[in-house]
Amino acid sequence: MKCTVCSANIIPGENYVEFACPKCGEEKIVRCKKCKMTANEYACKKCGFVGP
Ligand SMILES: [Zn+2]
Ligand SMILES: [Zn+2]
Repeated sequence: MKCTVCSANIIPGENYVEFACPKCGEEKIVRCKKCKMTANEYACKKCGFVGP
């Protein structure tokens, strides 16, 4: 599994967030610990939604 924002590999058990895209609800957004902390923007690959 990879971070949607920085493409870093997510290690199982690591602190990360995983949620469905708020707009299309289809694409899974994964944000690693680092990107979660810095509140990096993510972009949905499916619908192009950009969110914090
Ligand atoms: Zn990341
Ligand atoms: Zn989407």
